[in-house]
Amino acid sequence: MPKSHGVKGLNNPVRGSQKKPRVVIAGVGDVGVLVATRLSRRCEVVAISTRPALVSGQELGTRLTDPTSWRRTYLVPYRRFRRLDRVRQLQGRIIRADLEGDSVEVELSDGTTVIEPYDIFVIATGASNGFWRHDRIEDIATTEAGLASVSEELKAAKTIAVVGGGTTGVSVADNLARRGGAEVHLFHSGEEPLPGYHPKARSWITRVLSADGVVLHPDHRAITPAGFTGDRLTHEPIEWATDQAPFTADATLWAVGGMRPHSNFLPAEVLDDSGFVTVDEYLRLPGYRNVFAVGDVAASDPHRSSARNWGFRVVVANVRAELKGSSKLKRFHAPEYRWGSILGLQPEGLTVVQPDGRRFRIPRWIAEPLLMRVFVTQYLYGGLRKGSRS
Ligand SMILES: Cc1cc2nc3c(=O)[nH]c(=O)nc-3n(C[C@H](O)[C@H](O)[C@H](O)COP(=O)(O)OP(=O)(O)OC[C@H]3O[C@@H](n4cnc5c(N)ncnc54)[C@H](O)[C@@H]3O)c2cc1C
Repeated sequence: MPKSHGVKGLNNPVRGSQKKPRVVIAGVGDVGVLVATRLSRRCEVVAISTRPALVSGQELGTRLTDPTSWRRTYLVPYRRFRRLDRVRQLQGRIIRADLEGDSVEVELSDGTTVIEPYDIFVIATGASNGFWRHDRIEDIATTEAGLASVSEELKAAKTIAVVGGGTTGVSVADNLARRGGAEVHLFHSGEEPLPGYHPKARSWITRVLSADGVVLHPDHRAITPAGFTGDRLTHEPIEWATDQAPFTADATLWAVGGMRPHSNFLPAEVLDDSGFVTVDEYLRLPGYRNVFAVGDVAASDPHRSSARNWGFRVVVANVRAELKGSSKLKRFHAPEYRWGSILGLQPEGLTVVQPDGRRFRIPRWIAEPLLMRVFVTQYLYGGLRKGSRS
């Protein structure tokens, strides 16, 4: 049964003994890192992560075609984050959460296990999605090798098929076509790519893809090989459930969604039918005042978009409110349509699609210094130390 009492130990023992409340954060990806950096001053934060670096799930297109620029912002060892200095970091994977007993069991990278108790628990473990997001324990060298091997395989291919018309498929197909050297085919199941985006955005991206040389194949639904999760490039002919002739490419990249949430350490009753974590409008688990979930693992809205819709601010505000004993919680709001950068930073700048389908472009000469260095590095990350990038 879910617990409905207040946050354990906050009213008396924690404040009375001047001890800082203990916040355990599961997963230090795009969202977990933002939560950890904002709570580390007032709380004792323990951040549990499968890797020793932030490996962002954003911008797969530029990650494959321009890995050097991508790394600058999106592959950053945690030791470079000034605001993580106060955070106790454990490299490992949570294998069990005891929500009644307020603790988690962690399998560390050396194979041992530890129990970490908490006052507040924040779940930000994301979801697996193709080869670029997973929950394996990994060091930086392995991450780097994985990046390099896929990039090399794609560089060697003369024909590339990208299956899936979501943000990732579109971003990869367009960036590969712009780079040149291969014929790029994008297969998607609807009439236009980018389901979930405003119709104006969908028409716009169709024009952009064609203009950039991507060969579009609408109304193609691929048959995914049995047991295959899209975690590597394939080379066999692609078969279609929609009856078209099989298509053979030198390399096929699968970006068919089918996200698998990293939630198997949680009891089934806090998950929805697809395994995502059920949350209320405050991004809190119903019945558990001291447990929050945010990012791709959280069933916050139909698009599960709390990562890009500033869910970290909601969680940080609500953790602070809970710790103060305040009932004034911040609500999470998500727009009806998806939004964001789709193609990443290009020579002409960064185009951002808005929920109403309009878009604006930040020229590269402003986007690089202001957006990437000032906004992301200073504001979002709270300052990065210089040093080897990875
Ligand atoms: C500010 C911001 C802006 C964004 N803008 C855009 C945009 O413009 N366009 C766009 O397409 N997307 C954008 N996104 C969204 C982004 O594409 C994804 O939604 C985001 O990467 C998901 O982050 P996450 O923290 O939920 O998951 P991840 O970044 O995948 O992090 C989860 C981490 O948890 C680890 N983990 C998994 N299981 C366990 C476990 N059991 N124990 C411990 N650790 C575990 C994983 O290994 C991983 O490191 C944005 C996100 C943010 C935060």
